[in-house]
Amino acid sequence: MIVFKFGGTSVGSAENIKKVAAIINDCNRDKIVVLSAVSGTTNSLVEINNCLANDKKEDALAIIDNLEISYNQLILELFNEENHHLDAQLFIKTKFEELRSLTNEATKNEKIFLAQGEIISTNLFQIYQKQLGNSTALISALDFMSIDTNEEPENEKIKTKLTAILANNKAQTIITQGFICLNPDNEVDNLKRGGSDYSASLIGAAINAEQIQIWTDIDGMHNNDPRYVENTFPIGEISFDEAAELAYFGAKILHPQSIIPAQKNNIPVLLKNTFNPEAKGTLIKNCHNSTGVRAIAAKDGIIAIKIKSYRMLMAYGFLNNVFAVFEKYHTPIDMITTSEIAVSLTIDNQKYLKEIVAELNTIGKVEYDTDMSIICLAGNFSHSGKGISAAVLNCLTDVAIRMISYGGSQYNISLLVEKNDKVRALNLLNEGLFVQQNKPQEA
Ligand code: ADP
Ligand code: ASP
Ligand code: MG
Repeated sequence: MIVFKFGGTSVGSAENIKKVAAIINDCNRDKIVVLSAVSGTTNSLVEINNCLANDKKEDALAIIDNLEISYNQLILELFNEENHHLDAQLFIKTKFEELRSLTNEATKNEKIFLAQGEIISTNLFQIYQKQLGNSTALISALDFMSIDTNEEPENEKIKTKLTAILANNKAQTIITQGFICLNPDNEVDNLKRGGSDYSASLIGAAINAEQIQIWTDIDGMHNNDPRYVENTFPIGEISFDEAAELAYFGAKILHPQSIIPAQKNNIPVLLKNTFNPEAKGTLIKNCHNSTGVRAIAAKDGIIAIKIKSYRMLMAYGFLNNVFAVFEKYHTPIDMITTSEIAVSLTIDNQKYLKEIVAELNTIGKVEYDTDMSIICLAGNFSHSGKGISAAVLNCLTDVAIRMISYGGSQYNISLLVEKNDKVRALNLLNEGLFVQQNKPQEA
């Protein structure tokens, strides 16, 4: 079985939905199709929640009205057979009445609002497949996808439930929602923004799929962030380790956790472009690529914390005490560097910053900086390889580097810079590590 996941832009208009259907229907295999919400919808749902939280119900209702208008336009373009257009119309009308009634108990319904984008896209897609004469099954992600109290996916439960659902469903194409799930209180929840990639990978792992295909609006994983750097290029093949580092450290093409389930189960992930299906894309699999930098990514919203203490000198147990504070507040540490009297580390979650700083202040003198970015270089930096760190730092002689992490894993070099320096650093690294390297040598 193959898992296909299509992102927001891929299902972002009637024309694009037709492209998605053509890609799927071209594949004569058993498959699960995971869909995101139509692009922009989840942002609108977030806005609705914000309006309701700020007692601006009228504004929330206006967003709902506009969203309904845009869906009515979309279905007008998607359905040329009257009976299917009527089905879609009825679905949209009922759904938007439901959304309006949800505004009455706003705070209770936040997560329910957020789930509606994927519920709408999958229902419309199934009606469109009917118009094409294809019988498909639509299964609700809420019947099998779940997270535990730590917001971690419940892999065994997902597997058991999904296997049972599939045993009763013989359709060649099964459609389901990305992003949405149930939490331990059986309430509607989600896998965080961009979470449909994660859904696809969790589903792939649960059914031991042959391959997980992530279809998006770009022809694979590029060597650098195309939003900030010109002339980036797609990478044909990349290892799970490298892809996982890039996803975690900001390559938006993949949700930060999405590679882990595929990697654990050794299921190759193919990144493809819905708008250029002929392009080869990027294959992520268990392989060891040649040494050197494969790709660069950047993650914003980083907080750097420095704890300085002379008690650290020649002492053991100091780091243990530091880590215990982060454990207590369920806040993961990304980067860490130490000297004899100080330790610097980074986090990406501000939620308990005040509490963390207060407790760390009992251990040592604490300073912190917000609005930092981690630049992650992924590749295969074997420990015997020479010159890579020098090549990286040579590109950045003009950029202030606050922390450097090298050797933590063979696949990652991380640098911490101020967010304002991020774009310049990405471009300088691109120039020095890719453009100059590939220039023909002068005779
Ligand atoms: P989808 O809606 O299909 O999930 P996303 O917008 O989440 O798509 O991810 C695709 C986008 O990720 C691309 O349009 C591109 O701008 C961005 N991106 C960031 N870094 C990379 C990278 N290294 N390679 C490819 N795309 C990247
Ligand atoms: N619709 C959700 C979002 O916009 C999930 C996704 O697209 O992956 O974040
Ligand atoms: Mg995405």
